[in-house]
Amino acid sequence: MEEIDLLQLELDECKRQLAATKSELERKYNFEQVLENANRAIAIIGFERDILWINKRAEQMVGYPLEEVKGKIVTDLLAGSETDRTNLIEAIKTARTGEVTSYENVIYSKDNRKIYVKTEVHPLYDLNKVIENICIYSTDITKEKEYLKTINENEKVYQHLLSTTSDIVYTLTIDGIITNVNKAWIKVTGYDKNETIGRSSLSFFHPNDVEKVIEARKNVLNGKMLSYSVEVRLISKTNETVWFNAICTPLYSDDKKIIGFTGISRDITEQKRIQLYYQLLSKNIRDLVFLIESNKSSIKYVSPSVVEIAGYDPEELIEKDPFDFCHPDDLEIVRAYRKSQLNNTAKPTDTVTFRFPKKDGGYTWLEMTAKIIYDESTDTLWAITSAKVADLRKMEEEKIFKELEEEKRLNHIKSSFLQFVSHEFKTPLSIIKGLCELMTLGIEDVEETKSALLLKDISNIENETEEMISLIEEVLLLEESESGRMHFAPKNVDILALIKKVSNRVSLKQHVSEISNVTIIGTPKQICADGKLLEITFLNLISNAFKYSAGCPLPTISIQFLDVELVVSIKDFGIGIPQASIDKLFSTFYRAENVNQIDGTGLGLSIVKKLVELHKGKITCASKEGKGTEMVVTLPY
Ligand code: ATP
Ligand code: MG
Repeated sequence: MEEIDLLQLELDECKRQLAATKSELERKYNFEQVLENANRAIAIIGFERDILWINKRAEQMVGYPLEEVKGKIVTDLLAGSETDRTNLIEAIKTARTGEVTSYENVIYSKDNRKIYVKTEVHPLYDLNKVIENICIYSTDITKEKEYLKTINENEKVYQHLLSTTSDIVYTLTIDGIITNVNKAWIKVTGYDKNETIGRSSLSFFHPNDVEKVIEARKNVLNGKMLSYSVEVRLISKTNETVWFNAICTPLYSDDKKIIGFTGISRDITEQKRIQLYYQLLSKNIRDLVFLIESNKSSIKYVSPSVVEIAGYDPEELIEKDPFDFCHPDDLEIVRAYRKSQLNNTAKPTDTVTFRFPKKDGGYTWLEMTAKIIYDESTDTLWAITSAKVADLRKMEEEKIFKELEEEKRLNHIKSSFLQFVSHEFKTPLSIIKGLCELMTLGIEDVEETKSALLLKDISNIENETEEMISLIEEVLLLEESESGRMHFAPKNVDILALIKKVSNRVSLKQHVSEISNVTIIGTPKQICADGKLLEITFLNLISNAFKYSAGCPLPTISIQFLDVELVVSIKDFGIGIPQASIDKLFSTFYRAENVNQIDGTGLGLSIVKKLVELHKGKITCASKEGKGTEMVVTLPY
């Protein structure tokens, strides 16, 4: 009992000392300042939510001084549109039972600023441990709330992006098993999420690209690379190949270990196709194509054909001046061509041919066309040139030139030969002819029967010889006219007399008693011509008229003296000429099919045509087979 009393005494003493210390501290420091400086807003309210006291922090938070809020109902004073008033009412109820409640709410400051608060509501005991009032502790969490809100909004934007982007976004496990894909995946590949998630990403790649992806992931996993970017092909559900540029980065756990991958893949099929076309074109084009930045005179692109054409690596020509790749002697024409392009005077079909230096020191001929283009986006004047190797063409030209030279040489040989042969024949033939005449004279001494036979033979020899002489003369004439060595001496000629003379000769030769009928129209005039050549002309035409009309009425000749020209028509009623042959009559050695046994070489008319043309005249033929032929020669005076 004593001990208990003793203890009680000690306890009382302790209490007394404590109280003394407390009151001493209270006396010394005024505890209110401790409360006031607290980081949380503190308010003491009555059960009816009437404000009894607030600390400094609370004054700062809501913007009301203590004097202004005393006695006001806290929920009325600080509530606004987003405030939940029931929170506090419920919390007070709970506090009266001795429990503590905490909740988040929105209150409004004096200047109507919205404040997010985290609030704890405690019971406030008096000294007799009776709950008399309520104590509210509030922390301003507006900043955190707003931060969270932006994060939420960002998340929404991010999710929206993911579902609307045309790029494929995916996540994989560390073993490459697909754990998520966005809508673009479904759209591009045709596989829905069920058919995708849980499958190895490798199973969707083109077999030839699988190795590439495995290698890239390995490099990331063993730390050689932070991420990878590869161009790969995916095979869609409908078995189409789609090209992608796949960028993939690892996902890390909190302790910095790789736990999977995430990535984005962009459809580059179109890009690839264009790239392929470009490569196909650029690599295989035979022509030499240049892209030149014209204002700087600098080569920006040259087709790989330059390797084959001139032995350069295309890189060697980049940034060089295109005019350095032109033979000095051709610079002028190339510059002139460029100028005509620049001032728009060139035709699109215009080309320039110049020598392009080869790497080995030689030159190759190029035939080039160019187009000048102004590109607004880069403010650049481009020249696009395309060139073909012209060596072949040049060689072709040279070949033709050589052939022409050869032909000239051969022609010369031919005409010398013809002249030689003709003269060599003509002399002995003339001798034979002379001898025949002498023999005819000397035949008188021979007995009669023999002499008749001999005379006939001699006459035959004479005729054949004459034929040969006239053939040789024709050949020589033709050769002279073809080689341009024809002796042409025009003077005044009485054409009427000339034709009559020729006509008589032919009649005599043809053993026709009457001469052909010559009609004259207009007043006869003299003509300036080469009489010898005109004789040959009309001799041929009139001979033909007689030759091809044996047994028919005699040919007729008409001579018209018109104002500016002379028209001579030689008309016969003989075998005529087949329609198809008329055009070919004037070619050398041509004879129509219907001549049968009638002698001839086919040279006469070709000589006639040349002679008429030499006189600046013309000849036409009108004929009907079986009816007759009319040859009309027109000559200027
Ligand atoms: P030659 O060289 O001896 O004159 P040719 O009379 O046959 O021989 P051309 O005078 O050049 O040669 O005539 C060419 C061809 O034209 C003749 O072969 C003949 O078929 C045809 N021809 C020319 N004149 C007549 C004509 N008046 N009537 C029918 N056919 C003719
Ligand atoms: Mg003839």
